[in-house]
Amino acid sequence: MTAPAAEGIATRGFAVSGPEATFEPFEFQRRDVGPKDILIDILYAGICHSDIHQARDEWAEMMPAIYPMVPGHEIVGRVTKVGDEVAKFKEGDIAGIGCFVDSCRVCPSCAHGNEHYCYQGCAFTYNGTEMDRTTPTYGGYSKHYVIDEKYALKVNAEGDLSGVAPLLCAGITTYSPLKRWGVGPGQKVGIVGLGGLGHMAVKLAKAMGAEVTVFSTSPGKESDARTLGADSFILSKDPEAMAAAAGTLNFVLDTVSADHDINPYINALGPFGTFVVVGMPHAPATLHQASLIMGNKTFAGSLIGGFPETQEMLDFCAKHGITSDIELIKPDYIDTAYDRTVKADARYRFVIDMANA
Ligand code: NAP
Ligand code: ZN
Ligand code: ZN
Repeated sequence: MTAPAAEGIATRGFAVSGPEATFEPFEFQRRDVGPKDILIDILYAGICHSDIHQARDEWAEMMPAIYPMVPGHEIVGRVTKVGDEVAKFKEGDIAGIGCFVDSCRVCPSCAHGNEHYCYQGCAFTYNGTEMDRTTPTYGGYSKHYVIDEKYALKVNAEGDLSGVAPLLCAGITTYSPLKRWGVGPGQKVGIVGLGGLGHMAVKLAKAMGAEVTVFSTSPGKESDARTLGADSFILSKDPEAMAAAAGTLNFVLDTVSADHDINPYINALGPFGTFVVVGMPHAPATLHQASLIMGNKTFAGSLIGGFPETQEMLDFCAKHGITSDIELIKPDYIDTAYDRTVKADARYRFVIDMANA
């Protein structure tokens, strides 16, 4: 596949052309490096389940797929060129790109570092457009990205950077609600689903000082859960174990990617407990109002995190030595990695080796 010829920097990546298509090499152009832009040679790109939802057009009502689509919003790379007015980066630095690459910069959300809740809608890293609402964005399953330095993150990690890439989505998506709801020492926290987001949530909640329970449908993940830091592991398919968990937790973070019953997890909260959903399955969840009323419980959602908080999360992870547990793959394995992720068989994030692609 080839995108229509345009001015700019020729690059290549891997794209799907439809909801059932497999990944194919794709040649396209990034914009020329402007005065405030940096050019990044992408080293690693994580595979988030949101990539799968979008590539397969499973969010058609909310974010319809734009094809050809180059997914990837967990990006780490090396800066190889900087514009004349760039101050934050120099050539050779390591930079990260998360889920958005621009926003209106002036609305109340942008003014408060919540660019992901931009009133005009931010420019998503792929399957969206630049703020001109015309130029398509292509993601990190590619060799290069050109981005305004304001929206690129400083990565100060040393050594192997493959486990850092997933922090740019899985890391911030779990860090942000844990911070927002004050998770810390003395708190009992439940993490539902031990996948890419879930395993980061376990590491982060532990580093914040909480006692962590993992709810999983996969009995084979118990020992990994404990190695990741979980204090308890509950097989969510075991009704007795679920009944025993009732009323025991202060906070639950639901990271599940597929349709499932959320009521047992609301039930696991004690009075004044909070249930936050970050997983985005297709079907709406069903919840009886009484299950919130009885116990004054809160039901909330959370989308990734803003730019300042994403930088804070990267710095927190660097300080605590937190990275993602990954399986490094070549681009010809992306389709298989998608199928394995859907089967809950990622341990715990597939990361594409773009440097050697
Ligand atoms: P993932 O790696 O595939 O993990 C999802 C986990 O959910 C699986 O590992 C599995 O854990 C559990 N699961 C899968 N199928 C299930 C089923 N039928 N019933 C119950 N549990 C099931 O996905 P991810 O990358 O962590 O993403 C998780 C979800 O969050 C996706 O929907 C994604 O789009 C969404 N997301 C949201 C945001 C946001 O900003 N809110 C950001 C990123 C991703 P066990 O094997 O332990 O059961
Ligand atoms: Zn993601
Ligand atoms: Zn804005």
